Amino acid sequence: MQMTPEAVLKEYFGYDRFRDGQAALISRILEGGDVLGIMPTGAGKSVCYQVPAMLLTGMTVVISPLISLMEDQVAALREAGIPAACLHSNLDRDAYFQTLDAVREGAVRLLYAAPERLLTDMFLSLTDTVAIAMIAVDEAHCLSQWGQDFRPSYLEIAEFLQLLPRRPVVAAFTATATESVRADIRRLLGLQAPLELVTGFDRENLRWIVERPSNKYKALLEVLRRNRGKSGIVYCISRKQTDNVCEKLRADGFAVGRYHAGMSPQERSANQEAFLHDEIQIITATNAFGMGIDKSNVSFVVHYNMPKSMEAYYQEAGRAGRDGSPAECVLLFSPQDISTNMLLIESSAQDHDRLTPQQREAIRKKDTERLQAMVRYCSLTDCLRHFILRYFGEDSPGHCGNCGSCLTDTETVDATVAAQKILSCVFRVRQRGSACGSRMLCDILQGKDTKQLQERGYAQLSTYGLMRDISRVQLEHMVNILISRGYLVTDTGQYRTLSLGERAVPVLRGQEQVTMSLPRHDLKETKRQKRLAEMPDYEPDEALFQKLRKVRERLAAREHMPAYIVFSDATLREMCTKRPSDDEELLAISGVGRHKLEKYGEAFLDALAKYAEEHAGESQQPA
Ligand code: ADP
Ligand code: ZN
Repeated sequence: MQMTPEAVLKEYFGYDRFRDGQAALISRILEGGDVLGIMPTGAGKSVCYQVPAMLLTGMTVVISPLISLMEDQVAALREAGIPAACLHSNLDRDAYFQTLDAVREGAVRLLYAAPERLLTDMFLSLTDTVAIAMIAVDEAHCLSQWGQDFRPSYLEIAEFLQLLPRRPVVAAFTATATESVRADIRRLLGLQAPLELVTGFDRENLRWIVERPSNKYKALLEVLRRNRGKSGIVYCISRKQTDNVCEKLRADGFAVGRYHAGMSPQERSANQEAFLHDEIQIITATNAFGMGIDKSNVSFVVHYNMPKSMEAYYQEAGRAGRDGSPAECVLLFSPQDISTNMLLIESSAQDHDRLTPQQREAIRKKDTERLQAMVRYCSLTDCLRHFILRYFGEDSPGHCGNCGSCLTDTETVDATVAAQKILSCVFRVRQRGSACGSRMLCDILQGKDTKQLQERGYAQLSTYGLMRDISRVQLEHMVNILISRGYLVTDTGQYRTLSLGERAVPVLRGQEQVTMSLPRHDLKETKRQKRLAEMPDYEPDEALFQKLRKVRERLAAREHMPAYIVFSDATLREMCTKRPSDDEELLAISGVGRHKLEKYGEAFLDALAKYAEEHAGESQQPA
């Protein structure tokens, strides 16, 4: 009898239910229809084609852009007891021909292939002997010139489809939600009335935080302190900064590696491996790091600089908490990040030498708009999650309770007068034919006695020292609110100067009231830190968890595989709370499928039994 998709999910992957969207995409595929799934990293795209691949008659070909990604997926599938293989240029001759034989014998359910392989004679001859039921296109945005990772070889997929004796189901997946990229995917793959689903953008376990620290390195140490012993990524904007931060951390005693395109391939992959295998906890990296990294136990992602777009940010930060455990995504913003990104946009516009000036200008404009949205995110004082979800087209309540803004104790006040003071200060500066950024604006309003202010004559402004009586933090907060609501506009030039937005005029004329929610005066910084440090507790018994991790490490080393492929942290945690004592109970744990039960069940049950014996008489509930 044919299994149901739910049964496949349980049997092989050990999960009890599908996530939002997965079931709908899968049933459409099983009905023979095309799909386009738009799901962020970690939402569970792979299950959407892996489960139907087990149920369709014929083989599934998965097109994937990166060899490391393919090998990881194939290793994970085999662990789950699913016959999978891959074909790419790095395989040696023997392995290549062995795989071909296995495919011909019908012994492979999922065949991963690089797009360059498809039109080779060897590959095409395979399609004469084996029926292909589905083509799953992973990272489908690689088809689009407008996406950030355009790969011309992806265009060969359409040609390959034409050459097949029978057109298979085509299932495309991407994390990129922009309409132009989606339209390209539909057109270039020739999708036929696809079911198109945007889903899973909310990652409830991720805590979003933006900090605007005067000392970024100190702020980073604070994040590392509250995540001691856990894995994390620190993204930097340049190779040089990646090296700098890495060295500083090393000097401060952290087990840290680095990763960027300026290093030798050997060093890069050694560092990546060390990170994947938990030999080092922290990796500092440029955005070159991460595509194809499927490490499920990353507990924090820090951005040392603001990235160029929300798309890039969400993808990079989304590498945290893939196993569903609580994790945090911290962005350390400074105004200088804006000009650095502007420079990057300008220089990448120069690179598009095959484009017409008009096309180049269009790209530059799009990039600038994306950057502006990113800047708005960094200036936000209300719910960060709400902003993110709205940006990607999903609806959400305005208060999530698990982001930097929602966790800050605030009170709503009438801030009209304060807003008028700030706006008129900007007006006065502009009136003198001069301009200033937000830091200097705050200096003026607070009446700072600096050489720079004296030299520019700002000490003579009528607004000089007008807001001496409020705290610097509070003032900066208000300026940020005015920016995020469009009362003030930051220009994206080198000096990030401020000017009045359209909305400022009615406020200055006293025709509009401004309310703001501001952090309470009594909320000391230390108190806030404490609150951020309070992550929901998912580790009822740390000692047991560490024991199980050891078991996992041992098994992973034996199999020459990264630890998370054996079981994710979330699975181990569930073992800690549920304490299974036989096969059946173990099978009920999320992430334990039949194949892994047979392979690893005994080792974990033994460890659990031994632990229970050692702690007999003690209560399981922590006091
Ligand atoms: P993506 O390809 O979208 O980045 P993955 O397919 O790698 O994401 O899935 C991310 C993680 O979520 C994996 O560890 C996967 O096993 C897990 N996962 C996927 N679907 C489910 C589900 N229905 N229930 C529980 N975990 C799931
Ligand atoms: Zn929130």
